[in-house]
Amino acid sequence: MSVRDLARPEICALQPYSSARLEAHGGRVLLNANESAWVPDGDDGVGCNRYPEPQPAELVAALTKLYAVRTEQLLITRGSDDAIDLLVRAFCRAKVDAILIQPPTFGMYAVSAQIQNAAVIDVPLSADFTLDVDAVLSALVPAVKLVFVCAPNNPTGQRVVLADLERLARALSNRALLVVDEAYVEFADVSSVTSLLDRHEHLVVLRTLSKAWALAGARIGSVLAHAEVISLLRHIMPPYPLPRPSAQAALLALTSRGQADARKRIGIIRTQRARMATALRCLPCVREVLPSQANFLTVRFADAGASCQRLLDAGIVVRDVRRYPGLADALRITIGSPQENDLVLATLQGSAQ
Ligand code: PMP
Repeated sequence: MSVRDLARPEICALQPYSSARLEAHGGRVLLNANESAWVPDGDDGVGCNRYPEPQPAELVAALTKLYAVRTEQLLITRGSDDAIDLLVRAFCRAKVDAILIQPPTFGMYAVSAQIQNAAVIDVPLSADFTLDVDAVLSALVPAVKLVFVCAPNNPTGQRVVLADLERLARALSNRALLVVDEAYVEFADVSSVTSLLDRHEHLVVLRTLSKAWALAGARIGSVLAHAEVISLLRHIMPPYPLPRPSAQAALLALTSRGQADARKRIGIIRTQRARMATALRCLPCVREVLPSQANFLTVRFADAGASCQRLLDAGIVVRDVRRYPGLADALRITIGSPQENDLVLATLQGSAQ
């Protein structure tokens, strides 16, 4: 069985749009895409009068090197949100297929499934927010085409053990794709699951430049997967998904200087994460700080509503995660700059509960 057999048959059969940029063949006078021959004011060499390459070759090269995969195993998307949506649209038939997730987890998996009218099967994480592989496997029905695992998980910050992911990947072979969302992996002690890609053709890994690479505004994500999955997703992408300024910002971030800067920032965030966890645990208003492998801390409060309001009154916006199962008393606080973190502590220090 090939991974294509899991996809929607009409997507496999689709004749994709043939973009004008792919027809350019190194021509000098480009009159095939109804673009403007005039460069806009302030363009500064970006070339925004021209459509971008569908998959900018230079950025593909930089990202394949960064993630240690082959060109045919990588697709650049408009952030991981786009990747999640593409996967659901390519693999889930409306009213027939399903995805499987482990709440509390990132909300976009379920939202993308609902937009596609695919079912969502919930297999909650264990009480300590670790992945329950046996529970996932016993809930697996033929309708499930995608099993999303967020590693480290948002909003709990928990790591997922590599051996568990490998066991899941083995068990899902020929049954469903295992999609491991590694948006926060750069902040974790564990390594990426990408090393398993060549052994498990049903494994899909999502990476993003939005977090550790400080490029949330550029919207650059990557799908790392078997060449057949990449080719299917590419068929359903819009013709020119990646704006030129975004690709340029990503290339800059991936230079050796950019990479050194990113490593420095990751170090600061990890140090601040440890410092914040210790300091928050000492506050009377805090009940528990969940162990985190990401760039945030999820914190249980004696009165989460009051603490959230107190922070808001000081102009500090944190994520209210009380709607998630098992987190009815929790707020998620992103690790900011040392000064921003000081402000969070000082504000909560003054709270009475
Ligand atoms: N996955 C997870 C687990 C996330 O937390 C987020 C953003 N909050 C995303 C994906 C989306 O990231 P991107 O900016 O790459 O779309």
